[in-house]
Amino acid sequence: MEPGCLACDLSAGVRPLPGGSVHATDHWVVEHCVGPLGVGTLLVKPRRHCLAVADLTESESRELGPLLQRASDCVRTLARADQVYVCLWSHMGFEPGHIHFVVQPAWASQQGAVSDKPGPFLQVAMFERGDPPDPDAVAAFCDRARAFAGWAA
Ligand SMILES: [Zn+2]
Repeated sequence: MEPGCLACDLSAGVRPLPGGSVHATDHWVVEHCVGPLGVGTLLVKPRRHCLAVADLTESESRELGPLLQRASDCVRTLARADQVYVCLWSHMGFEPGHIHFVVQPAWASQQGAVSDKPGPFLQVAMFERGDPPDPDAVAAFCDRARAFAGWAA
């Protein structure tokens, strides 16, 4: 737990987390994204304050692949996404931040409506809009995610 770290604060309940914890393994936590990337965007982050994928332990690494696959399948299915982005930037300004994989649904219908180009361009457009996801819709999605994946909070 690192003071002032948003990822640590959300896990510790220092800041409110809409939808609550979606899933936790020995080393990882799954929750809904609090940023403006839309309902259905999950985060997968290590429990400990880790700043680089290169610093993951062997046991953390072993859990990661299956967890990202399951989270991605969950998002694709529940959000009926045409594609699911799995990405990690984890830069706070230009300082390394608590790593967190963003597992984000994307749809062809967003072309033109949100951004002319997909991928990081779509994400930038969504951050520029800055629309936080509706907390009730997030809570409902998290309930469905726990049921879909057989996850207990
Ligand atoms: Zn942290």
